[in-house]
Amino acid sequence: MHEFPDAKAVVRALTPDEPVIITRPHAAARAARFFAEKFPGKSMYAVKANPSPDLIQILWENGVKHYDVASIAEVRLVRGMLPDAVLCFMHPVKTARAIREAYFDHGVKTFSLDTLEELEKIVSATTDDAGTAAADLSLLVRLRVSSEHSELSLAAKFGVDLADAAPLLQATRQHCDALGICFHVGSQAMTPFAYVQALERVRAAIAEAAVTVDIVDVGGGFPSIYPGMEPPPLEDYFALIHRHFESLPISYSAELWAEPGRALCAEYSSVVVCVEKRRDNELYINDGAYGALFDAAHVDWRFPVRALEDDLIKPLTEFAFYGPTCDDADYMQGPFMLPEDIQAGDYIEIGMLGAYGAAMKTAFNGFGATECAIVTDEPMASLYRGDRADPRASDNVVSLR
Ligand SMILES: *Cc1c(COP(=O)(O)O)cnc(C)c1O
Repeated sequence: MHEFPDAKAVVRALTPDEPVIITRPHAAARAARFFAEKFPGKSMYAVKANPSPDLIQILWENGVKHYDVASIAEVRLVRGMLPDAVLCFMHPVKTARAIREAYFDHGVKTFSLDTLEELEKIVSATTDDAGTAAADLSLLVRLRVSSEHSELSLAAKFGVDLADAAPLLQATRQHCDALGICFHVGSQAMTPFAYVQALERVRAAIAEAAVTVDIVDVGGGFPSIYPGMEPPPLEDYFALIHRHFESLPISYSAELWAEPGRALCAEYSSVVVCVEKRRDNELYINDGAYGALFDAAHVDWRFPVRALEDDLIKPLTEFAFYGPTCDDADYMQGPFMLPEDIQAGDYIEIGMLGAYGAAMKTAFNGFGATECAIVTDEPMASLYRGDRADPRASDNVVSLR
């Protein structure tokens, strides 16, 4: 793939008709090293946030050795690339065939569950043809926790209620080598207290069930930085999680795990779009709700933007975007701050799309084509750059442009 200094150079070289996904391998590498060095436990990359093989390779080379996979296709993808990676199948609802293939063909030993039915399915799917049950399973019971501190809820769909957790933990203990409890506080958790609250629920579940717990997995939810969403330093999250983990009634050798998705890859990609038409303060651009901007359209997520022309001189003002497809739903209200004199034919970089952005492009309505390019400049915002004066002398600091 071609390498350019920045998005402006990409536009000058290609004058692209289609959106261009630009990637910053150095930013993903830096995030991976940060988690590998500073998270006080094992960091597994949640592959669904961005399954790009280039990204997975970068994370691997920079210390991420564990992968949270949620489908058999993700199991095959990561195993095909990384024979030595540890894969954990953390979707609480799987098919028996997927479990069987994961266990027998790809060496997956770790599974999550939130019902007795799923426990029975895992146990029978990992029993061999001679009728011998697997003796090497790590099974994690997914506990339902609050998503109140997060921008995107994951509280409704999965997780056993605290009131029902004890019998499930006791039954699971009978069938595993290592028993774990996992949860997900929701994506983009804006305060570390989200994890503190969840860990208190873990404490209550352990006390009620009176079982030995070997793994506590705090899931994903670690934030990135977007306009209007500037989280505290990640070190604060790590420190609070560590302190509360250490005080749980668990075995001395118990392990702490996390499943970061967004925080490892948000800074990895931007998309460069072209303005095809302007109507007042609405810009018709060539990517949208069915492309890399799914979250901008469907949950009104605000991504940072910058105009890539040198001749725009007016102050920034608020714009909304329309994407290229034919329906009204392909609309992003923003507001996105761009120079007042931006017009059709101008290009825009939309940043922080490495998580749940670039990975979600579809070909709906014939608008899926994209070029790709690597750039070497800094992402539009970073949690890892170290150039914001921080009273705690943290190198996990933020800066918008
Ligand atoms: C989506 C998901 C993650 C990653 O969440 P982020 O908010 O992107 O960190 C981790 N674990 C599970 C089980 C998930 O479903």
